Amino acid sequence: MTGAFPEQGGVIGPGARIGILGGGQLGRMTALAAARLGYSCVILSDVADAPAAQVAMAVVADYTDPDALERFAGMVDVVTLEFENIPLETLARLEGHVSVRPGPAVLRVAQDRLLEKTFANENGVPTAPFHAVDSVADLEAGIAALGRPAVLKTRRFGYDGKGQVTIREGDDLAAAYDAIGRQPAILEGFIAFEKEVSVIGARTADGRTSVFPVVENQHQNHILKRTVAPAEIEDETARLAHHATLRLMEAMEVVGLLAVEMFVTPEGDILMNEVAPRPHNSGHWSQDGAETDQFEQLVRAVCGLPLGSTRVRTPTVMENLLGDEVNAWPSLLAAPGAKLHLYGKSAVKPGRKMGHVNRLKG
Ligand code: AMP
Repeated sequence: MTGAFPEQGGVIGPGARIGILGGGQLGRMTALAAARLGYSCVILSDVADAPAAQVAMAVVADYTDPDALERFAGMVDVVTLEFENIPLETLARLEGHVSVRPGPAVLRVAQDRLLEKTFANENGVPTAPFHAVDSVADLEAGIAALGRPAVLKTRRFGYDGKGQVTIREGDDLAAAYDAIGRQPAILEGFIAFEKEVSVIGARTADGRTSVFPVVENQHQNHILKRTVAPAEIEDETARLAHHATLRLMEAMEVVGLLAVEMFVTPEGDILMNEVAPRPHNSGHWSQDGAETDQFEQLVRAVCGLPLGSTRVRTPTVMENLLGDEVNAWPSLLAAPGAKLHLYGKSAVKPGRKMGHVNRLKG
């Protein structure tokens, strides 16, 4: 233990050092929340100018470099992560030295859309109907079963709408499979959803859980643009969304956070779309709108502390600042009820998440 407080009953007390795999804005905001509770953080990042490296110690190395992993593990008391596409071997190697929360079993499911949806259905959580696709013949069979439109997605490494294509009447199936690089894929029935919502849950190693209010997510060009917290939905829909999140966290034995993205159908039912076992863009509202923010909740969960209240302090609308929208920072700073969060990224690129603003509606 690096901290001033000895580990007691599985609790990693303030003063200890938390390792974070990944150095993006999610790692940065986790490190800032950890610092408020008296922890320090070390990030492991494969780029030198990672946003989190401005606020935490950093080990810059390839995620598969065994010497760097050993050095990183030796610096910290527990390891968590801020993005899910970390090689499973990295987590397994680190686990030989230090607790990794969440661990490789959670990542294995969360990295693969086919495993994720299969796992959800096996645990009573509904999803869109789906079909595994490893060839054009599989795709033809999937379209015959699910009809058109349908959504073809790569099983792995898809984000912000990358690696996916909607197949409509008249579209050529071989061309669609080419468009996603002929990779292992999943075909999903098209859901005419009413809303997209998400829930962020937290779970400790001794099985305590907590969920944040359901929020509504609005996308532009497949990138999250706005989160409305709390979502305006029926109580029964919110109950179903919370139940699904708790069910998945328990079945996956998540230690840390689980963000669950869901569609709300016109009937008010929920269908899980995907999970992320880490802080999530749709939870940023909680920094200013909830009693505990998602980053602090992650620290509490991985260190075995009491989980914080997720009560809404103020209804909040979070807006991402994409690309040069960040140039509006002076007027955002001047706007009453607007709380600005910037990520310290030096280069502005179209669509790049540069920061966000939480607009307090209370
Ligand atoms: P994903 O990468 O799975 O989060 O998908 C990106 C976005 O595409 C979602 O936020 C939805 O807006 C849309 N989408 C994904 N899957 C479906 C589906 N099965 N039916 C309708 N829209 C979908």
